Amino acid sequence: MSNYEFIMKLALERGFYFPSCEIYADAPAGFWEYGPRGVSLKNKFIELWRRELVRRDGMIEIDGSQIMSKSVFVASGHISNFTDPITKCTKCGSTFRADKYINEKVGLNVPERLNDEELDQIIKKNQVKCQNCNGEFGKVNRFNMMFRVGIGPAQEEAYLRPETCQTIFVDFARIFKTMRGRLPMGVAQIGKSFRNEISPRQSLLRLREFYQAEIEVFCNPNKLNNISKFDEVRDVVLNIFNGSAYDQVTATDAIYKGLVPNKLVAYYLSLLMEFYSKTGIDMSRTRFRQLPSEDRAFYASVAFDFEVETSIGWLELVACNYRSNYDLKGHSSTSKQNLEVVDPADLTKILPHIFELSMGIDRSLYAILEHCYFEDFEHENRLVLKLKPYLAPVSVGVLPLVNRDGLSQKADEIYTELKQDFDAFLDVSGSIGRRYRRLEEIGTPFAITVDRTTLENDTVTVRDRDSMEQIRVEISSLHSYLHNAIRLPNNLRS
Ligand SMILES: [Zn+2]
Repeated sequence: MSNYEFIMKLALERGFYFPSCEIYADAPAGFWEYGPRGVSLKNKFIELWRRELVRRDGMIEIDGSQIMSKSVFVASGHISNFTDPITKCTKCGSTFRADKYINEKVGLNVPERLNDEELDQIIKKNQVKCQNCNGEFGKVNRFNMMFRVGIGPAQEEAYLRPETCQTIFVDFARIFKTMRGRLPMGVAQIGKSFRNEISPRQSLLRLREFYQAEIEVFCNPNKLNNISKFDEVRDVVLNIFNGSAYDQVTATDAIYKGLVPNKLVAYYLSLLMEFYSKTGIDMSRTRFRQLPSEDRAFYASVAFDFEVETSIGWLELVACNYRSNYDLKGHSSTSKQNLEVVDPADLTKILPHIFELSMGIDRSLYAILEHCYFEDFEHENRLVLKLKPYLAPVSVGVLPLVNRDGLSQKADEIYTELKQDFDAFLDVSGSIGRRYRRLEEIGTPFAITVDRTTLENDTVTVRDRDSMEQIRVEISSLHSYLHNAIRLPNNLRS
């Protein structure tokens, strides 16, 4: 079984995630639910994101609507540009995303920016045929990936947002004013976005409805090297990949060597590195891939993808785009509102530029699960999710050694006390070894065992998931013991 398949099996059987509407035959692809373990992992991941990015940098967080007016997407360019090239079989009607299909069948690496005629030529030249019936393809045309919705009885045209950031752009003027903004100002948002993917697949990796954690940094384009916080990250090592070679350099050297255009970009890429290094992802298998112009999104002038190596290839977790003033310019001219602000530092009036960190939460969670999954062949082939204690869905299991002699009653008391402050889980059924395994599989870092000694001296054993060592802890100090063992220590920061 591949690692991907193992994680899939674990997700389905242990309540991390599973397909939406699965009891119905017409369940659409590309929609997944988080089960109880998945929700807990996701919430803790988001809390880490808040702590290490939003609070650390002093950003502002908002929570906007998912349905937005047509004008927003006229201004943003999504109505005309947010399209994928598709090609339809003239014989059986199967439809494919043209560029991806060519890449798969011909083994070419077609850039995302080719136009329809160029794609037609490649299909013709390489005699690309339908994989279902060997039929000929018709001409390539465009499919807009936004979900259109109709509002009210008049079915007024609106769209589910394809990226959360549009809310931030549209709300910018009010936020800047009410929060007495200064540039650079980071505005963050967690929420759902919607894309009508032509071929959703691989569970959480290509979804039609997905979670984003986006950060939009509004900045003065004349002061991109005037970033006082840069000193905090000057020695953070960035692994920059230009498509053929790697450069492992400190943030300072990345600027000096021209790999990163300015301090502002280097600072936020470094924050991102520091954030992910606390998620349990193996950082030696990550990189910032610098995108050549033909692969960048239509609004980006500088772009890096933060990517993680997994069993199914390199996975993009965060798109880091320098969007210049594309967004505010578009919204300003479409809405006829002046979105310029006065930079309080020197009282100049400017239309801010934007650098964004657009994170896929679902993909990040998948990468964490895969990188933390561990087969311990030395100990009965136990399967362990070595999640960071502060990300584990269940923090502590409470287990009576046996189900008699008053042990389960004592375990119940301890569980009742702990669950007020911790994600605790009481498990009374099955052999103690089996119960340890079940906890390890979902990444529970600690297991408390209540045994006969507990009744004599009010101590329990606390078992560590990774070392499997057990120590005796007094019940009265259990709370502070767990608190210290589970929280993210402050001094982890380099
Ligand atoms: Zn066909």
